[in-house]
Amino acid sequence: MPLELLKLPSEMRRACDDARRRGESVGIVPTMGALHDGHLALVREARRRAGFVVVTVFVNPTQFGPNEDFGRYPRDLQGDMAKVAEAGAAAVFAPEASAMYPPGDETRVKVGALSVPLCGQYRPGHFEGVATVVAKLFVLAGASVAIFGRKDYQQLAIVRRLATDLLLPVEVVGHPIVREADGLAMSSRNAYLSPEERQRALALSKGLGAAASLFAAGERDAAVLRDAVSSLLVPAATSVDYVDVADPDKLTPYGDGAVGERTLLAVAARIGATRLIDNTVLGEEPPP
Ligand code: AMP
Repeated sequence: MPLELLKLPSEMRRACDDARRRGESVGIVPTMGALHDGHLALVREARRRAGFVVVTVFVNPTQFGPNEDFGRYPRDLQGDMAKVAEAGAAAVFAPEASAMYPPGDETRVKVGALSVPLCGQYRPGHFEGVATVVAKLFVLAGASVAIFGRKDYQQLAIVRRLATDLLLPVEVVGHPIVREADGLAMSSRNAYLSPEERQRALALSKGLGAAASLFAAGERDAAVLRDAVSSLLVPAATSVDYVDVADPDKLTPYGDGAVGERTLLAVAARIGATRLIDNTVLGEEPPP
C-alpha cells in the first residue's frame, strides 16, 4: 500500500476510522519531522503493536517560546515520507497550523505538577503547547497505542498523565533513547551543530555516563551525582539550564541527601545556540 499523505484533520479522522473498519488497530507516532533513526525506531515499535500506523509531522507553534527556533526548525516532508514508508507507516498526517488551531482558538490543555520542574522552569508554556496538540492528535486518531521517546522524558510523563486524566483509551508506550555510536542522543536539533559543537555535545551523554558509573558503584548522594555530570558538562557547554536528579514518576527533584533506587538524571544545556537535552533513569536502564 502506498503511504497516504493526510493534510486535513477530517482526512486523518477518516483514515483512522477506515482502518478500524478493516479491523486494524491504530498506532500513532507524533513528531515534528526532520526524522532520524530515533524517530524510525518509534515507528517500527508502533508497527509491532498496531496494524495501521500514522506518523504525525507537525512543527507545533504553541510549544515554542518567542525566542526559540520555530522559524528555523528543520523541515523535510518529502524525506520524512520516504523514511516512514520504509519503517512501515501507512500514513503521514502533516496539517497546517491553521487547521490544528481553528480561527478563534482559545482552548489549552494544561497538565499540572509534572509540567513545573526540569524543562518547565526554562520553557514557560512549552508543555501546555505539547499537551494541547497531543490531546488533539489522540482525539483525531482514536489510536489504541501511541509511541513516545524517553529522550523527552518529561513530555512522556505528561502525555501519560493527560491520557489517564482525559480518559483516552490509548496506551502510551515509552521507547528507549536511540543514540549515535559515540553516545550522543539523536535529535533533529543536532543538525544545527557545527563539527566543533558536535564534539562538545558529547559532554551530555558522557556526564550522564559518569554519574551512572558512580551510581552503579553504590553512590546515592544527590550532590555527588549532579557534580559528576556538571564537572564534564560545564566546561563543554555554552550554558547549562539544569542538571537534576529527580523522582522518575513525579519528576520532583531530590534536593541534597540520598536519591532513590530508581532515579531520573536529566540535563539540559546549550551548545553554541543549540539547546540539547538528555537523561537516564539510574537503576532502571543501561548507562548511556
Ligand atoms: P520530536 O520530533 O523531536 O518532537 O520527537 C518526536 C518523538 O520522537 C518524541 O516522542 C521524542 O521523544 C522521540 N525521539 C526524538 N529523538 C529520539 C531519540 N534519540 N530516541 C528515542 N526517541 C526519540
